[in-house]
Amino acid sequence: MSITVRGISKRFARFAALDSVDLDVPHGRLVALLGPSGSGKTTLLRIIAGLETPDAGSVHFDGRDISDQTTRERRVGFVFQHYALFRHMTVFENVAFGLRVRPRGTRPSAQRIRERVGELLELIQLGSQAGRYPSQLSGGQRQRVALARALAVEPSVLLLDEPFGALDAKVRLELRRWLRALHDEVGVTSVFVTHDQDEALEVADQVAVMNAGRIEQVGTPDEVYHHPATPFVYNFLGNVNLFHGRVDDGVTRLVREATGHLVFIRPHALDLARQPNGANTIRAVTKHIHAAGPVVKVEAVTEWGAPVHVEIGQERLRELSLQKGDEIFITPRDVAVFADD
Ligand code: ATP
Repeated sequence: MSITVRGISKRFARFAALDSVDLDVPHGRLVALLGPSGSGKTTLLRIIAGLETPDAGSVHFDGRDISDQTTRERRVGFVFQHYALFRHMTVFENVAFGLRVRPRGTRPSAQRIRERVGELLELIQLGSQAGRYPSQLSGGQRQRVALARALAVEPSVLLLDEPFGALDAKVRLELRRWLRALHDEVGVTSVFVTHDQDEALEVADQVAVMNAGRIEQVGTPDEVYHHPATPFVYNFLGNVNLFHGRVDDGVTRLVREATGHLVFIRPHALDLARQPNGANTIRAVTKHIHAAGPVVKVEAVTEWGAPVHVEIGQERLRELSLQKGDEIFITPRDVAVFADD
């Protein structure tokens, strides 16, 4: 089932939570809505679900306008940040619930429900925990049960609102890989809200970057990370150094004074040397060297006093035998230039 969102706007009192948003989620894809707190991600997800009514615009499933349908009629599966499992029901009963409450005509037989729940519990790797209660599970296991419960009714689309937001970092990491694998297996069209860049970039087929009620860019993780359309996307998707720049004959030079152009450079797209290297080299002094971890993070200050972050490999650090307070020369390899407005 594809999802098409057209011209969706939503105000809360005088505040515009969404401002004429368009979005296309092709059939079978996993799309992340990524943005800072308050950018409108949850509001957009709730409008797709039919839990919130927009002031303007429409939502289409497979090209059919479903704006007037209730959540139930849309048959969406929803997973929230806080596990909304029934505490007095076992894992099995929780997953079976959506099937059991169906009207008699469409309700599967008891035998079929048992089979279906069994399949889903295998899928979420909790087949042996069917008789447990939610309080006897870890947070990550509970979220997997919440997912199985949403999938049990064969939803038209699956909507996930910060599903791993309440879990600790290590479990989050495991679950995001698991969600990706699950999606590859089940293939249901899914929209996933997160404020975590790494999570969006790792899990999603497409990332929609949101800012202040608008979508700034939609693209594959590779596109939004390597070819950000706006300064906001550049900033939001990773660490970045900001310089003033002048573009002469297609070559960008970093300069001290404002020029009307801002140059964005990722820390790993700067080369570090002991000697000047070409005309576009800036002189700096190292302030801190953080060498714990796979990459070395060097904090330096340019000759005009601007902070600059550089990431280099451990081997390069040894070659340079860099110390705090050393003079260094920094050369950009890969830059993005935006008008400064
Ligand atoms: P978060 O990651 O913090 O959940 P979000 O990007 O999901 O942020 P939304 O929850 O969609 O953002 O909220 C967008 C804006 O709309 C916020 O400023 C929020 O305060 C406001 N808002 C959302 N729901 C309501 C409501 N029911 N009444 C009033 N304001 C609301």
